[in-house]
This record gives sequence, C-alpha cells and structure tokens, in this order.
Amino acid sequence: MTNYADLHIHTSASDGEYSPQFVVRAAKAQGFKAIAITDHDTLDGLEEAQKTSREIGMELITGVEISSTWEEKEIHILGYLIEENDGRLQQVLTEMKNSRSERIKKMVIKLRNLGYDIQLDQVTKISGAGAIGRPHVAKVLLEKGYVTSIKEAFNKLLSPGCPAYIPRYKITPMEAINLIIEAQGIPVLAHPGVNQADNLIPFLKELGLLGIEVWHPEHNIQDIDKYYNLAKTYGLLMTGGSDWHGNNKDLDFSLGSIKIDYSLVEALKAKKNELRGK
Ligand code: AMP
Ligand code: ZN
Ligand code: FE
Ligand code: FE
Repeated sequence: MTNYADLHIHTSASDGEYSPQFVVRAAKAQGFKAIAITDHDTLDGLEEAQKTSREIGMELITGVEISSTWEEKEIHILGYLIEENDGRLQQVLTEMKNSRSERIKKMVIKLRNLGYDIQLDQVTKISGAGAIGRPHVAKVLLEKGYVTSIKEAFNKLLSPGCPAYIPRYKITPMEAINLIIEAQGIPVLAHPGVNQADNLIPFLKELGLLGIEVWHPEHNIQDIDKYYNLAKTYGLLMTGGSDWHGNNKDLDFSLGSIKIDYSLVEALKAKKNELRGK
C-alpha cells in the first residue's frame, strides 16, 4: 500500500507543461495516494483534475500558489484545502491573471526593443488559456535559439534587475494569507529556502500562516533540517512537493522526486477540521 503524497504540482492551467488530467494520471502511475495541484494564481486546473481523480481513484487536494511580494522579494504562499467557490479569492485571482497578461505584453515589448524577435502570440500559443508567466517567454527564447536553457533566459533577461524584467501585480504575503484563510484553506509558506526570508516566518505566523514547505527540490539537506526545526519551533505544519512543471522548468523538478508521508496530508485535514470547529 503506497502512502505518499506530492503537494506542489503545476499544470497547463499556469506554467506547467501538462494538462491537469495528464498530471493526475501520471501521479497515479507513480503510486501516489494524494497530490495537490498548486498552479500560480489560478484555480482553473482544479475542476479537470478533480474529475480525473474521481475517475481513477486518486485523492486530490485543492491547492493554489499565490505570488506575493515583500520588500522586493518574491514570497509564494501555498493554499491547501481551499473552497474553490470562494468569491473573494476568485475575484483577486482573476485580477492577478489579467495583470499577468499585461505584464507579459510589456516584457515582450521590452525584449523586442532589445533586439529579440519575439511576438506575443508566440508566447500565448504556449500558455494557451492558462495563467501566462515568464517561463512561457523563456520557452519562446529557447525555441528561437536566443538562450540555451530556461535558466539562462531567467538569468540574462527575465529576473529582477535584468533588462526585460517588469514587476508583477503586487499583493503582500499578508493579503495572500488572508485570502486563503477566508477561503477556508491552510496557508503554507512555499520553498522558504529559495526566498531567504526566514526572518519573516514568525511575523507570518502571527498573521495566520499555518505551515511551511520543508521538502522541495531547491532545498538541500541543511535547508530541510532547518525548516523542519523551524516548523517544530513555531508549531507549524510541514508540507513538501516536487514543484513539477514538466519541461517548462529545466531543473530536476520531476514528479516522484519528492514523496512526503501521507500523515502530513492528514495533519492538514485535521487542522482544517479544527479551524472549522468539527
Ligand atoms: P512568473 O509567475 O511569471 O513570475 O514566473 C514564475 C515562474 O518562473 C515560477 O515557476 C518559477 O519557478 C520560475 N522561475 C523563477 N525564476 C527562475 C529561474 N531563475 N530559473 C527558472 N525558472 C524560474
Ligand atoms: Zn511556475
Ligand atoms: Fe513557487
Ligand atoms: Fe511552484
């Protein structure tokens, strides 16, 4: 009996390569008991994932990864077990999705001014109906031979401080946490080892943060140890996942690279029930 989960996966509803249906089937084939779909700033992939999960007998945890900003740092807040029909969450995510399109439009213009011959429709062809993002731009640059990897596109052009960068729609981590709580979900700080914002953890906990992502492909052994201990110190839940994007991310974030014990999923559910007074 397999008893493991992956609580951080992207689909084509944001910048993942594969459809929600494909992702759920792939996870089933790998023996996962449960997965969470955590697309950037959108819930659009959840319905299809839910349907496939029911068909093939896989547990789907509703999720989202909200992009927030604090003092120029990107802080991603994962929301688990959210109620998808929450009006306020949907409204803010719709605004974020629209502003993503505007942002990428401006980045394409910047790139053209820098001499990169790329068109917006080449980017939207890759993003499809999903929430558009920088990895889609990176993929066009890669396909056109301007860079040799997605990483290079980010390092040379698309990251803060680079010539084609445009900041995104700004919401604070506090707003992201509140939105998730209002949608009856569990807010969890994503990959803290990537953001170097450990000093924020006690502060975010005061604001309602309930967990930290301990296991992530960009966390080394020391990070895992540190965040495991921080979670214990602050009484926070622990989560983990592969952050799988298919080939839209050229690091080794493959499905199956992170398997967390199912008891951590049960702890999330227990927390939700506790908060709802069950
Ligand atoms: P966006 O939502 O448009 O800001 O893009 C965020 C996505 O870009 C996330 O999936 C990140 O993992 C990815 N990303 C950010 N920085 C890098 C990088 N240096 N190399 C590869 N992917 C990155
Ligand atoms: Zn992504
Ligand atoms: Fe993230
Ligand atoms: Fe992610």
